[in-house]
Amino acid sequence: AHEELLQSRKMEALGQLAGGIAHDFNNLLMAISGSLELLQRRLPNDPQITRLIDNALQGAQRGSALTGRLLAFARRQPLEPRLVDLPSLIEGLRDLLQLSLGGDIQIEVSASPAMPPVMVDAAQLELALLNVATNARDAMPDGGRLTIRISQEEAPSARDTDRTLARRVCLAISDTGEGMDEETLARAADPFFTTKGPGKGTGLGLSVVHGLLEESGGRLILKSWKGEGTTVEMWFTAVTAPQGQLANTSTKSSDKSV
Ligand code: ADP
Repeated sequence: AHEELLQSRKMEALGQLAGGIAHDFNNLLMAISGSLELLQRRLPNDPQITRLIDNALQGAQRGSALTGRLLAFARRQPLEPRLVDLPSLIEGLRDLLQLSLGGDIQIEVSASPAMPPVMVDAAQLELALLNVATNARDAMPDGGRLTIRISQEEAPSARDTDRTLARRVCLAISDTGEGMDEETLARAADPFFTTKGPGKGTGLGLSVVHGLLEESGGRLILKSWKGEGTTVEMWFTAVTAPQGQLANTSTKSSDKSV
């Protein structure tokens, strides 16, 4: 628990640092873009100069997009947890997931019968799922399959065995992509760790997912096999609420595959 506290303080400090840098950096980029636009208007209409200035402007724009993501990461809006029926949430997100995966990736969804609800910020969980789907898409450039399984299982680690009465719910997202070697897997959820190269990855996707689960009393487990694929497991503690207390979610779909 001490280690976890330390970790969450570190994340907070890192978030503040990232936020501060992102903010100042964004101001600098605005100044650079502004000057470049002025130059573009005043300089003679030489195609080579125009191209160079365009390149510089595009670089500044990419920088702005990155600082935008950093700011979103650092801001860490307060969570609004509520009771969520996972099969309904996935069903509602399915079209958007398919859109972000593209046509060459099939989605398969399955859910164990009678899933209890979990307590989580639904909007943040949707963003987390989209982050995971984006990674899956990047790992399957030639297409493949994304499998989403919602199941109920025992505690995932020895640390939790003193709470075996609490039921655990697992939302697992598997892809048939390139997978990760051990070193990449160990660092995948670290903030700013990315293997995607400049301009492509920010290294914030999985660390945001990790943060959401930690703050929701759950945990993130990553499993990967090089050349075969990756499974992202999001573990939640089930809420055993009396019937009728499930706000804003459908209880009907909880016992069927979606
Ligand atoms: P980003 O996507 O910006 O790189 P993430 O934190 O989401 O940041 O991921 C960090 C790294 O973990 C990725 O760059 C990639 O190397 C690895 N990774 C994450 N998800 C997958 C996956 N589904 N398959 C293979 N590698 C992955």
